[in-house]
Amino acid sequence: MLTVEDINVYYGAIHAIKGISLDVPDGEIVALIGSNGAGKSTTLRTISGLMKPKTGKILYEGHDIAGVPAHKIVGMGLCQVPEGRHVFANMTVLENLELGAYLRKDKDGIAKDMDDVFKKFPRLLERKDQLSGTLSGGEQQMLAMGRALMSRPKLLLLDEPSMGLAPLLVKEIFNIIKEINESGTTVLLVEQNANMALSIADKAYVLETGRITLSGTAKELASSEAVRKAYLGG
Ligand code: ATP
Repeated sequence: MLTVEDINVYYGAIHAIKGISLDVPDGEIVALIGSNGAGKSTTLRTISGLMKPKTGKILYEGHDIAGVPAHKIVGMGLCQVPEGRHVFANMTVLENLELGAYLRKDKDGIAKDMDDVFKKFPRLLERKDQLSGTLSGGEQQMLAMGRALMSRPKLLLLDEPSMGLAPLLVKEIFNIIKEINESGTTVLLVEQNANMALSIADKAYVLETGRITLSGTAKELASSEAVRKAYLGG
């Protein structure tokens, strides 16, 4: 579904992504793990059109989308949930969800997806008229994911969904990611929590200072000595 070929991305003179290639097959969960500053967010932002690679290709369903504006990419079914969630604090939960569907015109489809989001996240239904800025961190993560689902994505990009959440909530969020995938959405997941990411992913890549240093099935990586030492606490 998505193939990234040898991309190089810069912030001014800083060479943040140094020739990354990766493959996200249709229907799978692929995880990108690595420590702070490895370039995980930059990779996602480049795929979703928020940054332009200097060289390299990003093939999504056969089209090279490198440099295509982000709103066009969303319209093609590729949607990112950014790190830190970025919900619209002064709008209600319901208004945030409606915004997720702003490119769509199929009223019935939108209503059905709204129903599905409330089924997946009952807490959002209880709080649908609450201002989003007053939600807890976990609820804001749910809202950001729900808002992305309202665009009916084929490929969902998730940037650190576990960040700042209590362990029980992390579990809940990861169960929901698994459910979203089982109902047909392909997922590319960026995580510092390698344990959780590898527990739900089909395959994974390890990123270090802008390069992919290891890749394999999630099972292979979870049992790799190098990954265990560096990312799984021994
Ligand atoms: P984290 O988990 O801490 O977000 P990350 O793996 O997602 O880390 P990135 O945020 O992609 O890493 O950062 C990759 C590199 O690019 C880092 O060296 C970072 O300092 C640099 N970088 C990121 N954003 C900018 C920016 N706006 N301007 C300059 N350099 C940046």
